[in-house]
Amino acid sequence: MRAVVFERFGEWPEVREVADPRPAEDGVVVRVEATGLCRSDWHGWMGHDPDVALPHVPGHELAGVVEEVGALVTGWRAGDRVTVPFVCACGTCPSCAAGDQQVCERQTQPGFTHWGSFAQYVALERADINLVAVPDEMSFRTAASLGCRFATAFRAVVQQGRATAGEWVAVHGCGGVGLSAVMIAAASGARVVAVDVSPQALDLARKFGATECVDARHTEDTAAAVRALTGGGAHVSLDALGSPQTCAASVNGLRRRGRHIQVGLLPSPTGTTPVPMAPVIALELEIIGSHGMAAHTYPPLLDMVRSGALRPELLVTSAIPLDAAPEALAAMGKAPGRGVTVVEPWS
Ligand SMILES: [Zn+2]
Ligand SMILES: [Zn+2]
Repeated sequence: MRAVVFERFGEWPEVREVADPRPAEDGVVVRVEATGLCRSDWHGWMGHDPDVALPHVPGHELAGVVEEVGALVTGWRAGDRVTVPFVCACGTCPSCAAGDQQVCERQTQPGFTHWGSFAQYVALERADINLVAVPDEMSFRTAASLGCRFATAFRAVVQQGRATAGEWVAVHGCGGVGLSAVMIAAASGARVVAVDVSPQALDLARKFGATECVDARHTEDTAAAVRALTGGGAHVSLDALGSPQTCAASVNGLRRRGRHIQVGLLPSPTGTTPVPMAPVIALELEIIGSHGMAAHTYPPLLDMVRSGALRPELLVTSAIPLDAAPEALAAMGKAPGRGVTVVEPWS
């Protein structure tokens, strides 16, 4: 098969022929029809993820068709249309037993712990736990956007953020996951404030349901702007970018007893990020992490997509062949995703 391969961190990836993957006994091989490009792929390429072993094939936001099935798999057969959360769970650890597969103790992640989906085929383990059926009427492009950013945003806003109708939700950083969060929060009946440095990103945020926008290029204190626009602060606020500045602004933009949800990854040389803890105590704020979404919790998300309440396909701004993936990957480091690029390995 053809795949995007890098031999060293930060070195330009090559598109070349590699051996086809074989399914594990409990796994499947999926023919990749579409796979989203994400800032996490860029972090992996840069060497920020300790799980990545070289040489490596990135890619974790995939949808496609089951090609081959391991002997122990009972729920899936060749020809099934599927997607998968980027956290693939073991199914047997205490977290999995509690239904929290998104924080599985023995998780695998395509494109991080093993070769991913910037390839014509990808192997996925524990298929009966991890695969999600893609409805016939949903395109692979749309489905590819669910596995990481959209499901991540759904868990952050709905499951972890517990955002409800009438509440204010602030979204700091309107790349792929941020715009997904805007759309999901608006569809949940919340009022949304979007914050970004890019006027184009804010235009998209408005289109996807944000009622207020803060242009961070021309606003010295974005947290104060959010507090002013929301009559005292957001009930729920997401750092969807992942920087010390957006993290602090998200916390500082909350009202009393507000919930900060950290979604954007925060790599730092020391491994820690300063968080303003004084307001966390004084205002009884909650600081909550969000990490993917368990496969068994996808049905409410799929229902909202099926009904048209959520339109993840609107986030997809371009579709490119495998040969264009290295350049698009490199571009993720400069502009963290204005809309979503989908790679189609067979086009
Ligand atoms: Zn991703
Ligand atoms: Zn587990």
